Amino acid sequence: MIELVHSVDRLLTHADKVRRLDVRANADTPEDAARALGFGAQGIGLCRTEHMFLGSRRALIERVILSEEGTSDRQEAFDALEALQKDDFKKILKEMDGKPMTVRLIDPPLHEFLPDLTDLEVKVAVAKATDGKADEKDERMLEAVRRMHESNPMLGLRGVRLGIYLPGLFTLQIRALVDAAVELKKEGADPHPEIMVPLVGSVSELAHIRSEAEQIVAEKTNGYDLDVQIGAMIELPRAAITAETLAEEADFFSFGTNDLTQTVWGFSRDDVEGVFIPKYIEEQIFGVSPFETIDQHGVGRLVQEGVERARSTKPDIKLGVCGEHGGDPDSIRFFHQVGLDYVSCSPFRVPVARLEAGRSAVLD
Ligand code: PEP
Ligand code: MG
Repeated sequence: MIELVHSVDRLLTHADKVRRLDVRANADTPEDAARALGFGAQGIGLCRTEHMFLGSRRALIERVILSEEGTSDRQEAFDALEALQKDDFKKILKEMDGKPMTVRLIDPPLHEFLPDLTDLEVKVAVAKATDGKADEKDERMLEAVRRMHESNPMLGLRGVRLGIYLPGLFTLQIRALVDAAVELKKEGADPHPEIMVPLVGSVSELAHIRSEAEQIVAEKTNGYDLDVQIGAMIELPRAAITAETLAEEADFFSFGTNDLTQTVWGFSRDDVEGVFIPKYIEEQIFGVSPFETIDQHGVGRLVQEGVERARSTKPDIKLGVCGEHGGDPDSIRFFHQVGLDYVSCSPFRVPVARLEAGRSAVLD
């Protein structure tokens, strides 16, 4: 058994020597970050931040939803979230000392954050029928949820769109991240935070967030040698086919092939675990789900085109992938061929990705 472990280690060491692709991990807790490092990850390619707003922090989100822009109530909720986020980021950055950590600004489909509309309607109706009136907070929440209700939340007010429509949300995260990194710098550590903007479709969206981020970075890193890269996820077809323009505002791109597959094929990500879509894919498409292995003739072409367009503007722009495909061997081979710089995958898939990246280099 011990010999087997040594053989695998030797194989991985050899793969590391020859591979061109870097391998990062998708991690959003210090525990996952430590696990990723243990498996040989060279950084975090995707730190999702949505879960950091759930649990006991939901109350703060409710305060944001129920408050008006510019009010002290809204600001207090943002301030409390910023302090919590700073702590979240500091712990992970500390774990990743010396290695890059890409923080994806919050990208919640609204329905996952709002209370359920039907539940609220029933609650308010029952209260009115029994007591003659409903709780005032419930009524206000019902009104807010009705206002924000969307038929297709995955194609709605998410990602950068929410960041623009809810001023203060992205900025609290950026402030928290940069503060955490500056504090670590002061303590002698070597943090490498990167800010990633989700669901970008147009250069004006990216420019908007970039300019806010640059201001915060300039203000907070004053006197500290801290490089904070700002980039975008490429997860909409429009982003891929305008990558040469988006590249003007980006230090890096990461292909979000989960959403890109959804938007290219028009299959709902929310239903890939259901009955119809998997059956249809198996029987009518190729048997292999395009959500698992990159569909080279559709999604893959867009990735390739995005790479070429981005590099036509910025030859040294850093390009990676952080969708599920980043841990799939066949897809990794494809990413190697189109010339990405890194793949990012679940910590447990890091050894597989290292091996496949090495194999791809040898097979060239
Ligand atoms: C993606 O869309 O590929 C991605 C990595 O982001 P998420 O899965 O969080 O939408
Ligand atoms: Mg996505």
